[in-house]
Amino acid sequence: MFDSSEDLSGKPAMRERKTAKAPLGLLLILPLLLALASCGSGSSGSNSAPAAQLSASSYTFAIENVGSASSPQVFTLTNSGSATLSISGIALSGASATSFSLSNGANACGGSLAAGASCTVSAYFKPQLPGNLTATLTVTDNSPTPTQTVALAGPAAIGPEHSTPAARAAAMLSLLTQPEKLQLVAGAAPNSNYNYTVPLGGAGWVLGVPRLGIPELYLADGSVGVGNSVGPATALPSSMASAASWDLNEAANYGTVIGTELADFGLNVNLGGNINNTGREPRDGRTFETKGEDPILAGKITAAHLTAIQAQHVIAGIKHFAFNDQETGRTTANAIIDERGGRESDLLAFEIGVKDSNVQSVMCSYNLTNSQYDCENSYLLNQVLKGDWAYSGFVMSDWVATHSTVNAALNGLDQEQPDSGYFSQLGTAISNGEVPQSRLDDMVQRILLAMYTVGLFDNPQKIQAIPAAADAAVAQEIEEQGAVLLKNANNQLPLSASSPQSIAVIGSNADSFVLSGGGSAQVQPIGGAKTGPQPCPPCWATVNWDPSSPMNAIQAKASNAKVQYSDGSDASAAAALAASSQVAIVFVSQWASEGMDEPSLSLTDLTSATPVDQDALVEAVAAANPHTIVVVESGGPILMPWLNQVSAVLEAWYPGQSGGPAIANLIFGSVNPSGKLPITFPASEAQLPRPTIPQPPDSVTPFTVNYTEGYNVGYKWYDVNGFTPLFPFGFGLSYTTFSITNGAVVNNLSLTTNPNFQVTFNLTNTGLVAGADVAQIYLGLPASTNEPPKRLVGWAKLTVSPGATLSVNIEVDQNDSSHPMSYWDTGTESWTVAPGTYTVYLGDTSNTASLTTVGTITVGQ
Ligand code: BGC
Repeated sequence: MFDSSEDLSGKPAMRERKTAKAPLGLLLILPLLLALASCGSGSSGSNSAPAAQLSASSYTFAIENVGSASSPQVFTLTNSGSATLSISGIALSGASATSFSLSNGANACGGSLAAGASCTVSAYFKPQLPGNLTATLTVTDNSPTPTQTVALAGPAAIGPEHSTPAARAAAMLSLLTQPEKLQLVAGAAPNSNYNYTVPLGGAGWVLGVPRLGIPELYLADGSVGVGNSVGPATALPSSMASAASWDLNEAANYGTVIGTELADFGLNVNLGGNINNTGREPRDGRTFETKGEDPILAGKITAAHLTAIQAQHVIAGIKHFAFNDQETGRTTANAIIDERGGRESDLLAFEIGVKDSNVQSVMCSYNLTNSQYDCENSYLLNQVLKGDWAYSGFVMSDWVATHSTVNAALNGLDQEQPDSGYFSQLGTAISNGEVPQSRLDDMVQRILLAMYTVGLFDNPQKIQAIPAAADAAVAQEIEEQGAVLLKNANNQLPLSASSPQSIAVIGSNADSFVLSGGGSAQVQPIGGAKTGPQPCPPCWATVNWDPSSPMNAIQAKASNAKVQYSDGSDASAAAALAASSQVAIVFVSQWASEGMDEPSLSLTDLTSATPVDQDALVEAVAAANPHTIVVVESGGPILMPWLNQVSAVLEAWYPGQSGGPAIANLIFGSVNPSGKLPITFPASEAQLPRPTIPQPPDSVTPFTVNYTEGYNVGYKWYDVNGFTPLFPFGFGLSYTTFSITNGAVVNNLSLTTNPNFQVTFNLTNTGLVAGADVAQIYLGLPASTNEPPKRLVGWAKLTVSPGATLSVNIEVDQNDSSHPMSYWDTGTESWTVAPGTYTVYLGDTSNTASLTTVGTITVGQ
């Protein structure tokens, strides 16, 4: 196991980053050649004419800021003579005359200009493709030489009106010098020194090219809200909660909060988008950042996050590509997986995430896949990502995950982060002929394309206050939609606001805080976190509790009840309080972080100086009070040895900074729970593909992690092995009941325009309160394919009033990025629909016994 002095997670002292300093290179200006012609010599005509002449101030020109009506080029004319000038006309002419328009600035150059005085003129340049721009500014005045011209010259603009993002990127590329290109393909941190200052408090940055208006890239983490030292920012519930909502609109809201806040902080690259397939290893310390075990659900939820982030003019990122499914020994773990297994699991999630969102950055991971480091893995980067998926954005390395210069460049890495430890030698490698110039140009083209695609040039940095109140409301709604009610014996919940006279709230700082996950995804919440210890491993991440009080929110709901708190450190005291209360609500929590895996799926208290045995605490409380409700704050699945002894269990994930009110709303029924598990809760660790986590021999030697389960991840693994989990994927209770009837399949697969099948059915709310159900479609492929018994192919989250029936139609498109009907054929190296019979199942959990067969589809027979 781990020596506490050693960080086998591979996250060195880089966490000691200092906070923000003023960003570099904000001067996105380009001096133009300026010449004054015919500067009023006063030599002709009367010798009594006053000496008067115009000169222009230094003229600045931002190549990418032209053409925008909101950012004209302002230049200044100065009367450097000794007599007043009367300016009667200003005009632009020249080769590109039709590209210009001119208007006077604030102190317009349209009247009299005293000796020594200046006036400003604004020129709105219409963008055009590159080339040299020459133009003449003509000023008519009352000087002895009444027409004075100022010649302007410089590179022309590259603007959105005239070309596609790819053409703009190519045009810009053609203007770059070799050193400028090399600068763009690496982070600006000093090599081998992670104690660096990152502008704006982010995790990294890339210098821009001021002479051409190429902005700096400011990179910040943000899986669950804006991370690093950027905040205070809105701490959202963990991504797992977003996935548990099964709601793509809600997922878009999630991304919008992250994108908006990043942009408001002046950051333009997001390092969130963690889609690691934690179904392989639910003890993964980063499970809370991910979207669960199913490639389709995770891919679609992630794509919704990323699309929304990019809509805010922030380059989104998807990570960690690929098979970075355990944190233990993450820099040396060598994931061994067969081609089909990979394509149909982790890679499928990435494929959907990339294709559905047009995400512009992909972060390659620390680990090796099939014995090649991922950041120099030609199969992953060149063949699959850039080849098969036609990904046009750029690949950046995880922090210090680059292992070479030539191999990394040739095998698909486009940007080293956070420094240039290897890519500082790229110029030499190109001169030596080891790396073609075209590869560097391709790297830069991809980076520029990302910048143009999300609009970095057209939407310059604008730092402003984040919409904290609105985002807090979104955070609350996501938690309300994503918390999963796992048990509710005898309708223990919802509690009535008026009936319990006394409520015991126990454990996990629930008097004032909710737990958050650690590592680079850590958000500094608005209001300030309560900080705890630095568990080892990972040794560098601090336990943080978000400021939101479940107890206060519970008290606010049950205003007449006596609500009392016991911190849970003394199980007897907690049980005594529970015994004297009508209802006991025990909060249990499991901290998790990047850089570590959970010691086990059993609750392990890593946050207290004297660890609390939370299982014993729940048992003691449950023994004292038959109305015991457990609220779980965890990154992923936990074991629940006390499940049969308690009345109700609510999985709240890491609830985010509005978690307290959200939990209270759920407990008291102001919001009806509708979350469904995006990850299976095992009955024991023996059910996992690897009952014990493979351990590294040391911190440098690659060690094998055999993914022999291939594509049988999550519920597929349980189906194939006949295991009964504690709670299945897709499961979650409501305060109402639903029935699904009249299921049928409409088969349009023979259509060439939209080959699909549709599942139609009625969804009835058979209970007494409004609620939302997630109808799920699973597909069983023909036995010849050797696929697991079923896979998720579609779903809909539907809100229904009590007694009402919805007529529902869910479409499954054969050509969707999720390849719903296909298997990966290693012979043809393509997604293939096998001939045979496909069985369509419908239900609101993945539990096979609860599913209804609604039809079959026969292909090619
Ligand atoms: C993590 C990434 C993160 C990066 C920058 C790495 O250690 O694995 O997920 O984006 O640090 O903070």
